[in-house]
Amino acid sequence: MTDVIIIGGGPAGLTAAIYARRAGLSVKIIERLAPGGQMATTPDIENYPAFRRVEGYKLSMEMESHARELGAEIIYKDVIAIDTLKKTVKFADGSLEARALILAMGAARRKIGCPGEKEFAGRGVSYCATCDGAFFKGKNVAVIGGGNTALEDALHLAGLGCKVYLVHRRNEFRGGKILEQSVRSNTNIELCLGQTVAEIKGGTVVESVALNNVLSGEQSFLNVAGVFAAVGVEPSTGLVKNQLKLTESGHIDCGEDCRTEIEGVFAAGDIRRKPLYQIVTACADGAVAATAVGKYIFD
Ligand code: NAP
Repeated sequence: MTDVIIIGGGPAGLTAAIYARRAGLSVKIIERLAPGGQMATTPDIENYPAFRRVEGYKLSMEMESHARELGAEIIYKDVIAIDTLKKTVKFADGSLEARALILAMGAARRKIGCPGEKEFAGRGVSYCATCDGAFFKGKNVAVIGGGNTALEDALHLAGLGCKVYLVHRRNEFRGGKILEQSVRSNTNIELCLGQTVAEIKGGTVVESVALNNVLSGEQSFLNVAGVFAAVGVEPSTGLVKNQLKLTESGHIDCGEDCRTEIEGVFAAGDIRRKPLYQIVTACADGAVAATAVGKYIFD
């Protein structure tokens, strides 16, 4: 039987695999799409030590090959159920069992929740500026949100020659100061602060967004071909929500030791309650969780 199955191939899962292999454990990583998770769709990463500036997908491929070269087996499949008590992971065509599980499924982009969002998804509404930005080269686009992702997305799209309207519901940004300064000094980016999205409109594709001024309630319109939602993320805890204690925000409620209340089940990265959601802290979790698995199996 495999020692540990790691569900999720983002920075937490891949680092867990590296540490687990170096501790002599057999490892299977299950990943739905491609390695890296949210990291893979981040245009430029400038705060991962030693790299200064690296494209997200490149760092993802480096982490994946590091884990694979150490002997971690990576299985690209969709997990449809997890039994934390039996340490079993189910797929449409079978299942796998292990001595321990590391839950590293990360988080997925939150929806804006306005009329038109669902209707125009894939027809102008996007949740990934890195993946879809090239389709909007030189066009008018709106980025919604005020966190690091929104700031990065706005800069990425401005770099593609787009006229970017950055729509944020408050006057202060949640994202980092250096990114904010870059956004404020970019002439391709126009700030629309204190505004929420009332509706996304169009015909077959997006043509405009209606904004509501938070204070006055006044409505205005932006003619845009694309709307990039960057209003935060939600932890991917759907498969374990009835098995483990979750916080109000849906994160797995475990501490810095990454142990859940079920023996042999650990949680690492953006899926768990944390004070700081960063690649480097996800990696740290992966290392902690894999070391805890080693103790659980060998002690
Ligand atoms: P975030 O930090 O949670 O920011 C979400 C933004 O969306 C906030 O500005 C929030 O407004 C706004 N928002 C939320 N719901 C909204 C709604 N329904 N309508 C309009 N606006 C809404 O999310 P994130 O930017 O995706 O980042 C997630 C985590 O990853 C964060 O911890 C972030 O620091 C980290 N991250 C780091 C980097 C980096 O270090 N380079 C890059 C990307 C992400 P309020 O501010 O008013 O709440």
